[in-house]
Amino acid sequence: HPSTKIAMITGGNRGLGLATARLLGQADVTVLIGARDRVRGECAAAQLRREGVYAHAVALDVTSETSVEHAADYVASRYGRVDILVNNAGILPEVTRPNIDWPLDLNAFRKTFDTNVLGAVTTTKYFLPLLHKSTAGRIVNVSSTMGSLADQSDPTSPYYGQVVPAYQMSKAALNGLTIALSKALAESAIKVNSICPGWVQTDLGGPANRAAAPTRAADAAAIVVEMALLDNDGPTGQFFDRAGAVAW
Ligand code: NDP
Repeated sequence: HPSTKIAMITGGNRGLGLATARLLGQADVTVLIGARDRVRGECAAAQLRREGVYAHAVALDVTSETSVEHAADYVASRYGRVDILVNNAGILPEVTRPNIDWPLDLNAFRKTFDTNVLGAVTTTKYFLPLLHKSTAGRIVNVSSTMGSLADQSDPTSPYYGQVVPAYQMSKAALNGLTIALSKALAESAIKVNSICPGWVQTDLGGPANRAAAPTRAADAAAIVVEMALLDNDGPTGQFFDRAGAVAW
């Protein structure tokens, strides 16, 4: 088929991940829909194929090293390389889980870090050999301005009143991964950046958040796609939203 690039998107079956897959697909990228639930992944991929996108589901639970390893093995055998990895899968149990022992619910911390931080580390670890096979590997870590320490401590920030420590710390840690990886990969063709998609109409924060969020997933995905399709002279080790650089 005519596609020139291959993208793996974790949590690609709904929300921002699905919107990103659609936009990348419309740019002629073959999109691999990473989904922890096989049926949800197949449904999303089938929907995109009906829209004319080259989409395939890949079973991938970021919290299971075995699942990630199998996914990478499958992609290696079928495609031989990956050009773009979008570490998108994420959770916000501090908002969506009832009866949380707020603000320091240990279980919420463990679950959030397991998915939002270690999930990205695990996925990157197993897909890095495939990204090295690309002439223009790109890793996009889907972070949040709520993970910016500068933003968390700025009383004029619109997010100042938001206190979800496990989620905020997880995104700060993910940003640390972006910085460290970009340095470790500085001599390679791979670029690593963090993005904030804005406040997006998805299920991440439950129905009330979805109703209140100003940004459609289709619009929010643009910054992910921009970082996924960076030219070889583009930035690495940076943090962007649609308006430009975000303070760490
Ligand atoms: P959604 O809840 O709509 O989607 C989350 C996706 O992550 C789903 O596909 C979900 O799969 C998947 N996922 C969760 N856990 C795992 C796992 N263990 N393995 C694989 N996939 C998993 O949320 P969004 O689309 O909003 O979130 C996407 C990313 O965007 C997250 O990293 C989030 O933190 C970030 N973000 C979102 C913002 C917003 O306003 N919505 C703002 C800033 C950042 P399943 O369907 O199986 O549950």
